[in-house]
Amino acid sequence: MKIAVIGSGTMGNGIAHVFAQNGYQVNLIDISQASLDRALQTITKNLDRQVAKELISEADKSAALSNISTFTSMDGAVNDRDLVVEAASENVNIKLSIFKELDGLAPANCILASNTSSISITKIAAVTSRPDKVIGMHFMNPVPIMKLVEIINGYSTSTETSNTITELSKAIKKIPVEANDYPGFVANRILMPMINEAIYTLFEGVAGVAEIDTVMKLGMAHPMGPLQLADFIGLDVCLSILRVLHEGLGDPKYRPCPLLVNMVEAGKMGVKSKEGFYSYSHGTKELIVSRQFA
Ligand code: NAD
Repeated sequence: MKIAVIGSGTMGNGIAHVFAQNGYQVNLIDISQASLDRALQTITKNLDRQVAKELISEADKSAALSNISTFTSMDGAVNDRDLVVEAASENVNIKLSIFKELDGLAPANCILASNTSSISITKIAAVTSRPDKVIGMHFMNPVPIMKLVEIINGYSTSTETSNTITELSKAIKKIPVEANDYPGFVANRILMPMINEAIYTLFEGVAGVAEIDTVMKLGMAHPMGPLQLADFIGLDVCLSILRVLHEGLGDPKYRPCPLLVNMVEAGKMGVKSKEGFYSYSHGTKELIVSRQFA
């Protein structure tokens, strides 16, 4: 099976890495040459780490790298592919325009998958002439490490497409779980309300940042507290997924906490802006005194 991955950012480079490491030829496409260059550096660094841990050999690393080719346009990079996995920026207009163009360029039997966290697969499929071959393939970050692939069946996705993607996920040593296409799918429908509730707990002064995260780490055996996890995901990303849940399901229980809205408006996005519920300005996580949030 020949594969193309569109978007070479955080997720795209991880997805390309995993397919290439498992013997698949991957055309990695991004409109930004700088992003493609960074992706190849990241993939090389992550493969080096796997070699150092004796998980793979030097020969495996070279074989994986030789399976990846980079392109700055879809034209010429998707016309002989069996599967295209789109992992471009989480913006509905970008995704719809990519899928429209892709539909005209990829062979008729090619499956078109999206790694979207929150955009409707049914809506994406509807701009193509092959909605039965459009599916969600939702990898988790960091892709080379996380085992789960959430497979999202859109309204028109065929059983054949779903079975092919399930088998492929197993072939790349992931654990596939199928879900139907409703806002947030399974992962974010459950995770985001938990994060939102943690922010409300802070906002209403029930407990501070460290206390909330400690309760969830030690009490629920979560590897990371919900506020730290929100910083890691990006507070802007959390807010936009909560808005998708709120609008899509129409239930006030998904209303984003006003503190989250304020923090995003203030440019406090978490790790990527060096400040969220914690400060990352010195390269390590430091607690921001909780009364600043109230
Ligand atoms: P990112 O911003 O790191 O990378 C996006 C890449 O897409 C950039 O390199 C950008 O240049 C490229 N791009 C934008 N428009 C393009 C186009 N028209 N054609 C080709 N490339 C284009 O984003 P990311 O975090 O890797 O997220 C990618 C997708 O994965 C999103 O849909 C996101 O919701 C989803 N996702 C992200 C995570 C996460 O933790 N980051 C987890 C699961 C799913």
